[in-house]
Amino acid sequence: MTRTTYIPVLTVGGPPRWSRRPIFFAATLLLAILGPPVAVLAVPISPGDILVINQHDGLVLVNPTTGAQTLISSGGFFANPLGVALEPSGQAVIADPAVGVIRVDPNSGAQTLLSGRVDRFVLSGPRSVVVAPNGDILVVDEKGASGGGEVVRIDPAERRVSTSAGVVPYDRLLIALGADLEPNAIEGFAEAARHPYSLEAAVGLRDAVRRFRGGRVLVGVSRLPFKCPAAPYETALLLDARWREAGLRDKIEMEMFTPEPYPTPSAGEAIGRRVEGLLRERGIPVHAKREMDHVDAASRTVHFKGGGALSYDLLVAVPPHTTSAAVRESGLARDGAWVPVDPRTMRAAYDDVYAVGDVTKIATPSGKVPFLPKAGVFAERQAQVAAANIAASLDGGGGAQWDGRGVCFLEAGRGRAGMVTGNFYGDGPPEVRMRAPSRLWHWSKIAVERWWMRRFSA
Ligand SMILES: Cc1cc2nc3c(=O)[nH]c(=O)nc-3n(C[C@H](O)[C@H](O)[C@H](O)COP(=O)(O)OP(=O)(O)OC[C@H]3O[C@@H](n4cnc5c(N)ncnc54)[C@H](O)[C@@H]3O)c2cc1C
Repeated sequence: MTRTTYIPVLTVGGPPRWSRRPIFFAATLLLAILGPPVAVLAVPISPGDILVINQHDGLVLVNPTTGAQTLISSGGFFANPLGVALEPSGQAVIADPAVGVIRVDPNSGAQTLLSGRVDRFVLSGPRSVVVAPNGDILVVDEKGASGGGEVVRIDPAERRVSTSAGVVPYDRLLIALGADLEPNAIEGFAEAARHPYSLEAAVGLRDAVRRFRGGRVLVGVSRLPFKCPAAPYETALLLDARWREAGLRDKIEMEMFTPEPYPTPSAGEAIGRRVEGLLRERGIPVHAKREMDHVDAASRTVHFKGGGALSYDLLVAVPPHTTSAAVRESGLARDGAWVPVDPRTMRAAYDDVYAVGDVTKIATPSGKVPFLPKAGVFAERQAQVAAANIAASLDGGGGAQWDGRGVCFLEAGRGRAGMVTGNFYGDGPPEVRMRAPSRLWHWSKIAVERWWMRRFSA
């Protein structure tokens, strides 16, 4: 691929334009004529003059008629000057990724550091500048544009986000920070429980399952809410299938527990009871309405709130979920860690803030679920709706509304999956339908996963 380097050229008194060839020529000549750094050279500039920023030397004035070149400012703050623009006042502004934005008076060559890379924190690699018609200076920041850094603070009143790389002001904000796992929120959990909710933990679970030769297995949900309402039930069904294949199932006793009234309540009671039936057929009873209190790793016992306990040899449990501290402390989260949004538009408590995906708390219109489950299929559609609404809020076009529909597969083991489709925004209970586990839905799930991997993997 050919790489093209653009050098900004400004015609004094005229609109900015971008050019390549003449400037390479000018730059080559300049290299020959420019001597050691000179701080200031007083040269009057006139309309039609061309200003060139030379990376190695500084700001150069080129006479458009004669081609004469004059270095008008060098040294000083310049370390690696790359971009130049002209303000209505006739001052030049220079982007320097090592320094920040520097203002130069072309008539005197005097430099002022307008916005330092270190001082102001946002600029981490400014490469080029443009002056907007209202006089604002817009900076293209290479490192800032490529993102990076952990979000440490969201300040919706001040319209800015602080990251470990700097402070980013915004006009519109879309929060899609997902859910964080909080295994230490329950005494003994981190030490005792396996789970598939992070890559590292999933590898640990895989190894523990490979080593397991028999005994009591408890699969459960520690706290609500958690992501992927079907995941713990799929985990149990997949473990059952694996141990059957390995000829170990008759040496293993399996049970489930959950604070939910029945499995996958977000899909409605009828489907929940079907999932419960699938588990029962495989010899996996479900203890519902049981919320984990603590785990005693020494005696291998899960204790529940309000009394009661179950023992285990292998504990597989969904860890407690929360949001990142930046979200919790932003004032956007209400009644806990999650961000309530308008179920149709994804707009949060501030007009210019939107949130999608697991970070949200979406009350379903019927109030029966009562909150929309956390699933990637919802996050994707919500993101499209939020993007349309953000665009509409900026350009005045039509926005979008989410209809609350989604599709989800339920992996049942032995190469079969069920498929759940429905509308979670109906007035009554969720209008959800589950198609019985079959190879077709299993392969459909794999096809969807592959499509996502291809689309987003490097
Ligand atoms: C085992 C399992 C199985 C699942 N199966 C399904 C399924 O079959 N179908 C389905 O629809 N969904 C499924 N899900 C759920 C799905 O993965 C999530 O609902 C979806 O990923 C949510 O997307 P999101 O963008 O909201 O959050 P995420 O995908 O979690 O993305 C959030 C991103 O923000 C980053 N982040 C968080 N905090 C910060 C911070 N402070 N600073 C900077 N970055 C930060 C995170 O690192 C992450 O990259 C499953 C989940 C699990 C765990």
